[in-house]
Amino acid sequence: MSVRRMAALSVVMAAALGGCGVSTSGAERATAAGGGPGAAGSTYPRSSTTTGSSTTAPGTSNPDVANDPVLKKMQADLESLTQTLDDYWAGKVDGYQPPQAVETYLADGSSTVTCGGRPVTGPNAAFCGSDNTVLVAIDWFYEQNQKIGDTFTYFVLAHEWGHSAQANLGVPDNPNIELQADCFAGAFLQDEIDAGQLTEEPGDEQELNQSIALASNDFGTKEKHGTLAQRATAVEYGRTNRGQACVSQYGPG
Ligand SMILES: [Zn+2]
Repeated sequence: MSVRRMAALSVVMAAALGGCGVSTSGAERATAAGGGPGAAGSTYPRSSTTTGSSTTAPGTSNPDVANDPVLKKMQADLESLTQTLDDYWAGKVDGYQPPQAVETYLADGSSTVTCGGRPVTGPNAAFCGSDNTVLVAIDWFYEQNQKIGDTFTYFVLAHEWGHSAQANLGVPDNPNIELQADCFAGAFLQDEIDAGQLTEEPGDEQELNQSIALASNDFGTKEKHGTLAQRATAVEYGRTNRGQACVSQYGPG
């Protein structure tokens, strides 16, 4: 998948998250540790322009890997998607306040990123409600981009921005919170494909399914995230019926 509107790249930051396995809208937080875009511990401030020219592969200082096309695509996607998601939700929610930063960390806990003052670790991506940030284990993210493909980035970020939308809408924590985020992700993806902002490529549907499956099985919070069937259904419901329908279909009940 790719973002067509490359001009939107001027600013931004990155985003992250995919399964959002661990924290839901309200638990974590992050403080950046510096480094270039894509480097573990780096932050992608909304007000600066990222260059992507001084990156190293997540979790490694090997300069040869910096030229890895998968890494380059992932970093470009993180930047461009952040802006695309911000714009999308700004058009859907009055007074929308987007995540203030996307912060990356290493899954082994060696980074200093926190959410709500607590250290963030583990292979995951999350929306930290208390800090209004999106957190991404960049080494895990890179691994999944290699294994599954670039659609992983699109699904995960779309899901995390779904939590951002919930925070803006004042949706309370409830048993449907994760499935609604999936539904919002589906609505975003299909709306933007239809609008020509995102371009689907061969294999994207399979990659999307694999990404959903990973998010369902890879974490210890299955009950909250839902089974694969539930999550796939929620994403498809969003793609078919769009965002407003997600509000009622997957509301607090
Ligand atoms: Zn989530």
